Amino acid sequence: MNTSLEGQIIAAYGRQFTVELPDGKHVTCVTRGKKSGAACGDRVRIALTSPDQGVIEAIQPRQSLLYRSDAFREKIIAANVTQIIIVLAAVPSFYEDLVNRCLVAAEAAKIKALIVLNKADLVAETARAMETLQPYRNLGYPLLTLCAHSDIAPLRPFLEGETSVLVGQSGMGKSSIINALFPGINLETREISKTLDSGKHTTTFAKIYHLDPDSHIIDSPGLQEFGLHHLKPEEIDHAFIEFRPYLGQCKFNNCHHRSEPGCAVLAAVEAGSIHRRRLAAFHKLVNA
Ligand code: GDP
Ligand code: ZN
Repeated sequence: MNTSLEGQIIAAYGRQFTVELPDGKHVTCVTRGKKSGAACGDRVRIALTSPDQGVIEAIQPRQSLLYRSDAFREKIIAANVTQIIIVLAAVPSFYEDLVNRCLVAAEAAKIKALIVLNKADLVAETARAMETLQPYRNLGYPLLTLCAHSDIAPLRPFLEGETSVLVGQSGMGKSSIINALFPGINLETREISKTLDSGKHTTTFAKIYHLDPDSHIIDSPGLQEFGLHHLKPEEIDHAFIEFRPYLGQCKFNNCHHRSEPGCAVLAAVEAGSIHRRRLAAFHKLVNA
């Protein structure tokens, strides 16, 4: 067989991919050579080797790329994502550093970020978490409180027309959200993938679920954050959106915004225009 077809990778498991063709048919594909670089969400050209098997021949240019963090190297976790959904809950407590890192990943990839504060039924705890998250709302990041257990409807308008990827610490409710959106889903597979992931297994699993022809969710069980090692210091600078107006104004070009004289970012922190916790998060990131 020698048919060349266009399709989209809707599932990636290690070096094996499921490619969906325009007619909805699924083809199991591998890449040529060892280094693949292909990822869930990629639009690809494949050559069929049998009616339901093929080889990925080319990857189309991507609109966005997200990397997963890896102790040794960074792998692409998803391509062509338009929105990162950061799933948080007041209980167990979340790491604010992770929120900042996910926001940096979104800004660097030039895509939207949505913060979802799940378990809104825990009213008092949720109110306290809202206070912690107020600086992020002030920056313009949308924050949605949600109770995935009882009502997923408030999330739906945010998903329309987007390819969203869910990210969050274990226990925040990612599985519950996926399950509420896609009731037929195989949760057992998710649990196995989560376990593999927490064991720092080298295999990455990601899958796209279609809400409608224009709205998609990429689920990667166990995905807690994204890799940022590929970013240069100045790109991290720019990913803190409230720093941007001040970046050209520091006295030194390569200012680290620590104690340099004439630092416009430090002056903005003093003036209350930049939150101290955001500057601290920035310093942690550039030191990492
Ligand atoms: P994941 O590890 O992020 O996939 O989180 P899960 O979806 O497995 O949820 C973790 C725990 O939080 C489970 O015990 C869920 O039943 C619980 N949970 C999920 N959503 C809600 C919610 O809206 N309210 C409350 N109170 N608990 C929730
Ligand atoms: Zn500075």
